[in-house]
Order: sequence, then C-alpha cells, then structure tokens
Amino acid sequence: MLRVTEIFRSIQGESTHAGRPCTFVRLTGCPMRCTWCDSEYTFTGGDHFSLAQIMDQVRAFDCPLVEVTGGEPLAQREAFQLIKTLCDENFEVLIETGGFVSTEEVDERAAIILDIKCPASGEAERNHWPNLDRLRADRDEVKFVVANQEDWNFACRVIAAHQLEQKARAVLISPAWGLIDLKELADLVTASGLKVRMQLQLHKYIWGPEVHGV
Ligand code: SF4
Repeated sequence: MLRVTEIFRSIQGESTHAGRPCTFVRLTGCPMRCTWCDSEYTFTGGDHFSLAQIMDQVRAFDCPLVEVTGGEPLAQREAFQLIKTLCDENFEVLIETGGFVSTEEVDERAAIILDIKCPASGEAERNHWPNLDRLRADRDEVKFVVANQEDWNFACRVIAAHQLEQKARAVLISPAWGLIDLKELADLVTASGLKVRMQLQLHKYIWGPEVHGV
C-alpha cells in the first residue's frame, strides 16, 4: 500500500516537459522541511491505495506522461514498485525528488528530476551527492530553487564541481516563489554564460500562486 495525497491530470508546470499534459501521482509525506516548501499539505493525511488502485486511476486519465511526486515520493519503499509498474505499462515516467533519498533503485526507464537544495532551503546539508553520479544526460534533469545571491553562488559551484551541464539533460534554475526578483535572477543566469535553463512554475501563472508545486 502507498499513502497518496492526490492523483490528478494537469499541465506539467516545470522542467523541459513544461506545458505537456501529465497525470500526477502525489504521494504523501516528506521528512524534509524546506523553508519555502509549497507542498506542506502533503506532509500528513492522505489515503492508503493499493498499487492496483493507483494504476486504475492513472489508466483512467489516459495520458502517456505520468509524474510521481510528493512530498518526497521516494520516501515510501513501495514507490519503487509503482515506478516499475508504470514503466512496464509503457507510460513515460517522471520522478520529482527532493534529492536526499538515493535514486539507485529507481527503474532505469524513468526520468529523474533531481532537486539540489540550496542554503536558503535550510536543507542543503541533506543533499545525497552520489545521486549526481547516476545522472543520465539523455533524460535526467537537476533543479536548483534559488532564493537569493548566496543560493545562486552555491548553484554555480555545484554545477561546476559536478559538471552538471554535461551530465544532465537540463540544469533548471527556478526562482523561490516570491523571494527573488525574476529580472534579477534572469540577469544572473544571462551573465553567467552557463548552459542552464531558467524556469517558472507554469501552473502558478495559469491557476494562481495558491496552486501547489509539482
Ligand atoms: S523536499 Fe519538497 S516536499 Fe519536502 S519539504 Fe522540501 S520542497 Fe517540500
């Protein structure tokens, strides 16, 4: 059984897949407490679903792209079996993970969108760095949520130290909602010359900032 907050179909709001229709399976719970987290409602509650029940709902949405998210989706052991089952049924599977759980056991057919927590999150010390050695340049993406100059400097150091421009399909730079001026961040990205992609949370521009992250 898995604890599930919600299963729904929407528009993918982030990553290089932004704009694509997508079914989201949002699992409940996260041991992290990022200061700017917009998914706190997933920390508790949720309902217990069997794998079969989740698959029935996903199939009913009839969408080839599925994202498993949270909370922290990989914090529940059964999530790895869910990902495998989705891949076995030929869904294109994205995993949005906070980056502190090992991705080693994630089915290799799934694409991983790996957060790297910056200092302002309050959780940077929990980054599981070996995950960066498993990145595959044809599908995996890394994401830095940047709240200030210190976060940006941290992101630049990590990108260089781990050669992320080469190792990942995309290096995503996402503004922490309401904490950094978008033009300021755009200037930092532009001036850096780095092969990164600034992204906005598309769903919040469509449905408003109260809509939760993906
Ligand atoms: S890892 Fe994600 S869900 Fe967990 S506290 Fe941080 S932002 Fe929120």
